[in-house]
Amino acid sequence: MMKIWGGMKTKTVRGTLAATLALALVFGAPAQAANAATVNGEQLDFANKMSPGTNIGYKIFAGNEYTSSIPAAVNMLMYPSGLSNPMVLWSTTATANSQMDFYQYSDSLSGVAAYATVWEKDPNGPPSNPGYRKMPTIAMDWRDWRYAEIRLNDAEMDSMSATTRKKIILHEMLHGYGLRDLVKAANKPRIMYAYMAGWTATGLTAAENNVLVAKY
Ligand SMILES: [Zn+2]
Repeated sequence: MMKIWGGMKTKTVRGTLAATLALALVFGAPAQAANAATVNGEQLDFANKMSPGTNIGYKIFAGNEYTSSIPAAVNMLMYPSGLSNPMVLWSTTATANSQMDFYQYSDSLSGVAAYATVWEKDPNGPPSNPGYRKMPTIAMDWRDWRYAEIRLNDAEMDSMSATTRKKIILHEMLHGYGLRDLVKAANKPRIMYAYMAGWTATGLTAAENNVLVAKY
């Protein structure tokens, strides 16, 4: 999530997350978070990832106006300045071939510029067509997911510069690959910093790129 305004919401979510993880350990659920990367003392990624995720299609759905910013953000991900990673994305119009789906919505009240969700196969679905379900954020430390949906808030992004739009889209794509929001002021120069205020990243930053290399 890329938030317009600072606030308590992310901190509350993080507190809930920690409590749930502690319970999960008590009850013996897979505890893989120990391999997570950290930057300035903040955990940078979830233990799991999109699978398969290295070479995927992306689709811009009807009604999404950011048809130049999205490919530009894809380019920033695949060809980061001075860095390299194995990520490959190709544009598709076939939903079944897309693992990074881009939608647009409009909400002038939320203070959120864009957000990402991840989806997994529904184990309770019929075997012939298992379907997909949205995965809770906490489960991103427990099991892999199949694809991500990114929603761009036109009410906020319409008036932004092309440069800002691109880095917001890149930030959300990285959530889709398993990176977390950073909230400490020391992480304002990082692409995964969660707030617009003081956010100085201009593209994919090294620690985040290292996570991609390690995961994929
Ligand atoms: Zn975010």
